[in-house]
This record gives sequence, structure tokens and C-alpha cells, in this order.
Amino acid sequence: MRIRIFMVDIFCKNRVFGHLEEIFLSEKLVCVNSFSIFVKNSGVMKIITLGKTNLKVNKNGFGALPIQRISEKEAVYLLHKAYDNGINFYDTARFYTDSEEKIGAAFGDRRNKVLIASKTAATNVEDFWKDLHTTLKNLKTDYLDLYQFHNPDYCPRPGDKLGMYDAMKVAKRQGKVRFIGISNHRQNVAMEAIERDCYDTLQYPFSYLSSPEDQKIVEACYKHNMGFICMKALAGGLINDSALAYAFLNQFDHALPIWGIQRESELDEFISYQDHEPELSSASWRKIEKERAELSGEFCRGCGYCMPCPAGIQINDCARMSLLLRRAPLEVYLTEEWAEKMKLIENCKHCNACHEKCPYDLDTPTLLEKNYEDFKQFWAKKQAGEL
Ligand code: SF4
Ligand code: SF4
Repeated sequence: MRIRIFMVDIFCKNRVFGHLEEIFLSEKLVCVNSFSIFVKNSGVMKIITLGKTNLKVNKNGFGALPIQRISEKEAVYLLHKAYDNGINFYDTARFYTDSEEKIGAAFGDRRNKVLIASKTAATNVEDFWKDLHTTLKNLKTDYLDLYQFHNPDYCPRPGDKLGMYDAMKVAKRQGKVRFIGISNHRQNVAMEAIERDCYDTLQYPFSYLSSPEDQKIVEACYKHNMGFICMKALAGGLINDSALAYAFLNQFDHALPIWGIQRESELDEFISYQDHEPELSSASWRKIEKERAELSGEFCRGCGYCMPCPAGIQINDCARMSLLLRRAPLEVYLTEEWAEKMKLIENCKHCNACHEKCPYDLDTPTLLEKNYEDFKQFWAKKQAGEL
């Protein structure tokens, strides 16, 4: 559903909030009807419905993994700016160190004005409850709008042996969780979650570089009226054209990208697309096709599920160094620091643990070696003053 929103006056500070089953606005805004909300001096903000949750969310979601890397003061500033510009969905996880605490610091005083999703990577019921209670405490709240299983290697389901899904249902009955979701990188687990119809949302990697099989997952969510949350909408840093990424995902009305935001400039880019939606032109499609061709075949998505590595290798960046060297400014990765990190690949024990954990079934040790060879060539050229 598309809702037009116009600013009423200078006091409304661009705020538009989605909560419960309806859009509501700050006192300074007026709702003309259920489809159009008019205020003065306008912009157009796209609001979508998150599947059967019926939650109304700004098409720009906030992925809160990167705020781990900035101070609490900086994170609160970013989160407040996002909120002031109508972003109402924030996705975090127990696994993201202090990300939940930073969101709690930003929104503890306005909890019912935002939608908060978190995740648990617990593998047993006892840890599930520990995680949930820690998350609620960190977020300064007594409920989550959405609680997701964090990339499990199977699909938890009602009545199964491990009891994880049943624990989720108990948390829901207790009012601690409003909706139940699952995040996953594996096509088979994602498809099972959709087909079982016991989840409200699926979080799955999706961008213009995704495969046709991935697109089938997005379409299946639509058919099952399941909220689709796009993670890695910039393909883990491989996409450097955020306008194109936004325009591509804008075609899928039921899909909610959660942009991983660490810098104010990144946030500003996505906010600007709310008023001026980037369009998919024929030139855009040519660029998408070109990039898809460049990135065809097996490549590391940078998800990090293969870590930690017993040899200390930062696999999620080292295994895609060749791509990073070609798609990011050279000075970012051709540094002494990265040369040292890449050299650790020489210490690989070939234990194969990374390969076993990779949801894309990549031959990670071989990929690391190839990337190291490539890096050494770039490095040698740099040392020779050729770069
Ligand atoms: S195979 Fe090498 S890179 Fe992979 S986990 Fe083992 S030591 Fe680390
Ligand atoms: S090797 Fe696989 S698991 Fe590891 S970061 Fe890359 S895609 Fe993710």
C-alpha cells in the first residue's frame, strides 16, 4: 500500500509513526483518510505493510548492526535523526554487542512510537529466555514488536524436539513478543519457513545482485502474505550505488530493506530517497546487468557466519578482497593493516570449519587463497609505485 504524507507545519518535524495496526501521527499531523495523510510542504514517503503483521512501516528500515562501531552518543544522534525523518522500524540482534543498548538509550523514552525487532541465536530454550530478558532490559522495554530466530541451520517449528518455536509462542502469549520471525541465509530453510506458514516475517539477503532463486523466496513471501525484510540490500558493501539499490527494491511493495547505517551521510542518502524516489531507468538496468555479470559465480557475501576462525583470519572481508579492491577506493584496502590481515591466510589450518558453516556452501579456504594471491599482486604494484 502506498500512503502519501505531506507535512502539516513546521512543528511536526517530519515525524510519521507506525504502531499497532494503524498509522498514527504526532499531534501536529492530521490523517485525512486511511490512504492519504496530508500535511503542508510535502514530501512523499512510502509506507508498506509488513505482511500479516499488518504493521505499517516506512520503506526505509534501519539496520542497527553497524552502530556497534560508533559511540553511544553518535548512535543516539543517528537514531534520533532517523526517527525525526519518519523511519519507524529498527532491526537489531542480541548478537550485535551493544546495538540493543544504544537503541534503548535512543528510544526508551518513546518506545511506543517505534517498531523494534531483535533476534536470538540461542540454540536451546534456556538460552532463548536469557537472551529475551537481556534484550528487553537493554532496549528498556517490556515487549518486542518482532522477535526473530537468528539464522538457525534448521527451521524451528511448533512441536519440534528442541522446543524453540514453542518457547517463542509462550513469549508471545506473555506479551513479550508481538510477532514471530526468522532470519536466514539458506534458501532451503527460508523456503521451509515460508511454506510452514508459522512465521510472520522472513529476513533474508536480497539485492539487485541476488539470484533468480533468491527472487523466488521474495515472491513466495508475497504469496504467503509474509513480511519480507531484506538484509544485505547493499550486498555486504559490494553495491556502492545506494540509489540504484533503493530503486531496485522499490519494485517489491511488500519488501522492507533495512539499511545498515553507521554514518550520518549514509542516513542522509536514504532519507533523501523518501522525497525523491530514484527510478529504474534503462541505464539502471544496464548497470545492474553489468554488475551481475561481474559478480556471477560464487562469491563471499561477507555475512561472517563462518567465523570465528581458529587462525584469526577475518574471513568475511579477506574472502572477498578481490571484489573489494575493485569496487571500493583502493586506499581503503591497500594498507599495511590489511596486508597484515591478508598474511594471516598463510596460517590457515585447513580445518574446513569455515566451509562447513558457510550458508552459501563456498569452498572458503580455496577462496581465501585466491583472494590472497590477488591481493599480493596489487600490493606488489603499490610497493613498486605503480598504483
Ligand atoms: S579452514 Fe582455514 S580459514 Fe577456514 S576456519 Fe579453518 S583455519 Fe580458518
Ligand atoms: S565465506 Fe560464506 S559464511 Fe563466510 S563470510 Fe563469506 S559468505 Fe559468509
